[in-house]
Amino acid sequence: MVINTKDNLVDIKSLTLEELTEEIKAMGEPAFRAKQLYEWMHKKLARDYDEMTNIPKSLKEKCKEHFSFTVVNKVMVQESKIDGTQKFLFGLYDGNVIESVLMKYKFGNSVCISSQVGCRMGCRFCASTLDGLERGLLPSEMLDQIYAITRLSGERVSHVVVMGSGEPMDNYDNVLTFVRLLSDDKGLNLSQRNITISTCGIVPNMKRLADEHLQINLAISLHASNNEKRKELMPIANTYSLSEVLDACRYYFDKTGRQLTFEYSLVGGVNDTDEDALELSQLLSGMNAIVNLIPVNPIKERSYIETERSRVIAFKNKLEKNHINATIRREMGRDIDGACGQLRRRHLHE
Ligand code: SAH
Repeated sequence: MVINTKDNLVDIKSLTLEELTEEIKAMGEPAFRAKQLYEWMHKKLARDYDEMTNIPKSLKEKCKEHFSFTVVNKVMVQESKIDGTQKFLFGLYDGNVIESVLMKYKFGNSVCISSQVGCRMGCRFCASTLDGLERGLLPSEMLDQIYAITRLSGERVSHVVVMGSGEPMDNYDNVLTFVRLLSDDKGLNLSQRNITISTCGIVPNMKRLADEHLQINLAISLHASNNEKRKELMPIANTYSLSEVLDACRYYFDKTGRQLTFEYSLVGGVNDTDEDALELSQLLSGMNAIVNLIPVNPIKERSYIETERSRVIAFKNKLEKNHINATIRREMGRDIDGACGQLRRRHLHE
């Protein structure tokens, strides 16, 4: 069971209905109260016990003593004038801040959440990792990014991507609990097929995830087509080689049947030549996969530059000529510190 360190109490919003039912029964209360509490938190998105009109006052008092009730609090919202993307800065119980993003697409509303405060993976072009890892988020804190955005925007969220700050496979247990709660039919009931987890390639946990019998999508941050180049951009490549990462991907596909996405941030003059595209095609040949090309979003702490638009298109064409499906990520929120960790970082340093 997940504990909130603020008060060292069990975190009520991180409990499954089964766990909550056990807790409530142990408190001498009838089991149906657990279901009511669970629906208030995960279906009606209540932010405190006061909103729960059919829960007796005495039980609310008991719950306040027994549990921690974790929410995220809006610190700031920025809205892109270009595409309506909204970036949220949320405050946590311990004073930390995290970012989440709401993107509106034709197919629905997608929320990108953070899984950790900061990150320890050290990818060279990423702003989230510049200050290292603070801590992993609780399942309730991941859920509440979605719940808070739903409440604040009045929009239904149909898709969730764990692609914000942090490495989800470095906060494995809490991320798994989060996925189970988010897709629970007694909660928001979000289809697992609409949930995507993005990883830099922590091989053992990718395999563990494959064995969980989930229907979620896996995205893998590749960013290079050989080990030498990948090591220059991503320190994790010193621990797991590309062939180990791709083996874990094949394992994930075999176990789940879910198509894989490979993320490839194009960095000007670093990984964006025709030779890189050819090597990437050979690497991924025969895999049921799609490559998502992301023109790097330059951060001021690093000197990486964006690949020119014509080069991005040439890179995509080269992949397709070699029978690799590729898309170019629509860049959203460029005017609002869109890149992972930029807004939080600016907030911390101001
Ligand atoms: N830790 C996870 C989630 C990170 S963010 C992972 O590594 O996949 C999601 C994607 O954005 C990753 O592919 C990450 O490498 C990429 N990314 C981070 N900063 C970026 C930037 N400034 N420009 C382009 N892509 C970036």
